[in-house]
Amino acid sequence: MRGITAFSAVAALWLASASTGMAAPSLTVLCGVDEMWCAAMKTAYEAKTGLEISVTRKSTGDILNQIRAEKAAPTVDVWWGGTGDTHLQAGSENLLEPYQPAHERDMLPWAQNFFAMSGGRSAGIYAGALGFAYNADLLRELKLPAPTCWKDLTDVAYRGRIQSGNPNSSGTAFTTLATLVQLFGEDEAFRYLAALNRNIERYTPSGAAPVKAAARGETLIGISFMHDAVTQKQVGFPLVIVAPCEGTGYEIGAVSIVKGARNIEEAKRFVDFALSPEGQGTGAASGQNQVPSNAKSSLPLAAPDISMIKMVDYDFATFGSPGERSRLLRRFDAEIAVTN
Ligand code: PLP
Repeated sequence: MRGITAFSAVAALWLASASTGMAAPSLTVLCGVDEMWCAAMKTAYEAKTGLEISVTRKSTGDILNQIRAEKAAPTVDVWWGGTGDTHLQAGSENLLEPYQPAHERDMLPWAQNFFAMSGGRSAGIYAGALGFAYNADLLRELKLPAPTCWKDLTDVAYRGRIQSGNPNSSGTAFTTLATLVQLFGEDEAFRYLAALNRNIERYTPSGAAPVKAAARGETLIGISFMHDAVTQKQVGFPLVIVAPCEGTGYEIGAVSIVKGARNIEEAKRFVDFALSPEGQGTGAASGQNQVPSNAKSSLPLAAPDISMIKMVDYDFATFGSPGERSRLLRRFDAEIAVTN
């Protein structure tokens, strides 16, 4: 009886794949960076290996939720991109597989520190500073002052004219929340967020959406990573990019292998590619402007110079710990009205 049941299950699977004409992909990747980079990485990896892989873009918090939900039977092999503190949280929840990448010795010091902090479960692939950007044409048209500081964004002049990500789904927006807590102290940060909330037109599920909306004049100001704004500016949109006067936070984007990955050897090969100069070059080639983690990779020409930006000493260990991240998100949901 058991034999018949097992046979039926195999036959059903075979029939399902035969009827859809689809073979299982050799590797399933969830991608946390911009769609353009996800697509460029898929093309480059397939060209290099001759394999067909599945790459799907999702926001960072959504990726964490999916990997958590599939813990008993993972369908994802690699989580590539997205803010590192969320990868650290997944590592602490025992959702990731340790792996020593081939290129680890070529990593810049901040990436080596990040790898050590993750217990060898997540490798840093890029860094980038948080900030905001406004549409210069719209600002002129509305005759509004130019914001230069976080505190300026609470000015009543910008009522309903700012977009930010929702920190529950967006790694960018969680970086914003953690940055404000580190800059101002937690209670002051939440008072600030409540004041900012009065000016927020929309909390977007994805972190890059606010600067894309500002670029197109759909909103005035978008809070996002500065490199996302640079990418929009490079294609001709009238954005002014601001490194806030009080200082700001930054992300280390990461790559991790999911614990129990079905294609573990291919997952390791993908991670090695993601850390190689060739793999990291797919970022600049698709218009991205993060700072790559491999010392041998070339820096995108327009990448914001993070050494020139006043930066908080971002505490990845604290803000990547499951308790702290969940607690801050609960407080955000309880105290700040999320209207998206
Ligand atoms: N896009 C870029 C260019 C990023 O650097 C990052 C963060 O790693 C993200 C998107 C993250 O997206 P989200 O905020 O939607 O999680």
